[in-house]
Amino acid sequence: MNPHDALSEIASLLERERSSRYKSKAFRAAADAISSLSDDELRDTASLRRRKGVGDSTFAVIQEALAGEVPAYLADLRARAGIERTSALRGQLRGDLHSHSEWSDGLTSIDLMVDAARALGHEYLALTDHSPRLRVANGLSADRLREQLLLHDGFSGEGFTLLSGIEVDILDAGELDQDPDLLDELDIVVASAHSKLRMERGPMTRRLVAAASDPRVDVLGHVTGRLVEGARGTRPPSTFEPRPVFEACAAHGVAVEINSRPERQDPPDELILLALEIGCLFSIDSDAHAPGQLSLIDYGAERAERLGVPAERIVTTWPLARLREWTALRRVAPAGP
Ligand SMILES: [Zn+2]
Ligand SMILES: [Zn+2]
Repeated sequence: MNPHDALSEIASLLERERSSRYKSKAFRAAADAISSLSDDELRDTASLRRRKGVGDSTFAVIQEALAGEVPAYLADLRARAGIERTSALRGQLRGDLHSHSEWSDGLTSIDLMVDAARALGHEYLALTDHSPRLRVANGLSADRLREQLLLHDGFSGEGFTLLSGIEVDILDAGELDQDPDLLDELDIVVASAHSKLRMERGPMTRRLVAAASDPRVDVLGHVTGRLVEGARGTRPPSTFEPRPVFEACAAHGVAVEINSRPERQDPPDELILLALEIGCLFSIDSDAHAPGQLSLIDYGAERAERLGVPAERIVTTWPLARLREWTALRRVAPAGP
């Protein structure tokens, strides 16, 4: 087994498990540190041990891989990942509209995210780093987002498209946390609330309805904000009237996100069923903050299938051309010359 591939796969599986980011970072760093070394150089254990980025666990993985074995560390992770079921619907997903890179609070560069998306067979991935007000997540100012947009073209080609995007914060009265003109230029706008999640029912409902009615919004992200498990602890769902919110989504063609992260599982089942009844579209998204988390859409697909959401209503089963028609429909027409 190729040592570099073993280290990268371990990093991805750790990310998928949402282990500490330092752990997966260590494996990514080791993969990077040995990427230019030949097998013979790797067998020079004294010099390998001295190499920056190679520690005890990563050294052991490299040695086992060189010996032609599947490293024990990797075998363990694979076994844990393997018990998860995959759904028929998963096979119909063509892409993902919600992901983060190290430009905001993601773990890696854009190119590792793109590599992972391609490896999953995605036709498209929207890069949706955070907006300025989310300072804890290093949200992008308008200038930094413009800078990021200049890089996009380099990541598309050979059947894959990196869509430009943002996860824009929904501010207190439903305003979006980015210049409207800049939002108009993006392929995908995911709008999510990250602050004041404990607002009263009335204002929270109006806030979400306003966001869902904004012509620049394509996807309403993790609508209740709940956390059901994991290192960040749990958080109850926000209090709001779901019916008017989903009616606004349906009226404006905004997709309700089915956020696949196991600690979110947002919206809860009963709200997915309500949105389904109201006629909403859905987007099954990973909300990946690391390459290994793009595969979390397995979970979202499993939930959607179990709840009877038809593939046709899920925009991420659509081919890119249809997806673009859908977003273009709601964008404000640019002013003529
Ligand atoms: Zn978010
Ligand atoms: Zn996100």
